[in-house]
Amino acid sequence: MLELWTADWVHLGDGPRRQAGLVTDGRTVLAVGETDELARRYPSAWRVRKGRYLGLPLVNAHTHLDLGLAPTFSGPFPDFVRYVIGRAERRGRAEAVRAIRHAPQRILGDIAAREEVVDWWLAEGPASGVVYWEVLGLVPPQREAAILKATRERLERWKRHERPGGPRVGLSPHAPYSLTPGLMRGVVALARELEVPLQIHAAESPGERDYFLRREGELAAFFRAQGWPLDLHPTGLSPIAYLAELGALDARPTLVHGVQVDAADVRLLAGYEAVVVSCPRSNVGLKVGLAPYDLYAHAGVSLALGTDSRASAPSLDVRDELDFLAARGLDYPRLLDWAIRSGRRALGLAPARIETGSKVEQVEFW
Ligand SMILES: [Zn+2]
Repeated sequence: MLELWTADWVHLGDGPRRQAGLVTDGRTVLAVGETDELARRYPSAWRVRKGRYLGLPLVNAHTHLDLGLAPTFSGPFPDFVRYVIGRAERRGRAEAVRAIRHAPQRILGDIAAREEVVDWWLAEGPASGVVYWEVLGLVPPQREAAILKATRERLERWKRHERPGGPRVGLSPHAPYSLTPGLMRGVVALARELEVPLQIHAAESPGERDYFLRREGELAAFFRAQGWPLDLHPTGLSPIAYLAELGALDARPTLVHGVQVDAADVRLLAGYEAVVVSCPRSNVGLKVGLAPYDLYAHAGVSLALGTDSRASAPSLDVRDELDFLAARGLDYPRLLDWAIRSGRRALGLAPARIETGSKVEQVEFW
């Protein structure tokens, strides 16, 4: 028996639409198009309303599954950094396995800080997308070389274990402030050489911006409290301008957060055709603000969406990010497109399309 599937919003690959749908025999998509036209062409098809959404799968472009189901922290950003450092020993495969059960999207950009978690992803992780190996370190130059050597060996091994339908391996130099310039440059060069995707947290908190511009604010105070030197990075540049100056933006990384940016930063990002992954519930929970979405849109910067980890977000479902922003007045279909087409771009995945002949398992609905 044929069925004509419809929903409030339909995204088959070329943008969100209303009054659209597909006809299926239960295994294969036989036709896609306007609902009325499909009803005319297939008069015997049983009309089935699938709910709020029908189409390509949504992408959660940024999370940290190995932080597990940590109680969500809400408070100032430097305290959050302390909180995550405090949970570091609890990161691991068991945490990631527990968390994936609570992550409805099956295309993920996941940051992993334990080798066993990358091994698990590549062997049997039940999702596609990218698992990014996280690198960070404020270390002397001789240690940089050792970290880069170990990173290269891991990446070369992991690349050999990628499987069809599974995730790719990528690299995530954590953030502009948590790697020395030499290590950041080295990790970016390695990603380019090995042709793996890159994802960097950047311009998340006001403290990060104050640290880079003037060595002031919460992050500078955190550095002092930890006994870390304050002359590791250049001053007078925004975090985005620093990444550009370092050559890191040439490697086309996906930038996570991009909250504390000004018009000059956004112009820079547009020039590099960068994709910014926004994690709005995490940003509001950590009191760092919300990304300037209109500024990005006017500059033509692509925005994708991620939940970030359960340490800073109440769920691992990217649909909750859509609802959160829609409640703040953003256009729901536009947000859907961020989570679908921009999400794929953020992870370096080819554009997808649901069309005649597509397998019905490729169609998501809720
Ligand atoms: Zn993150």
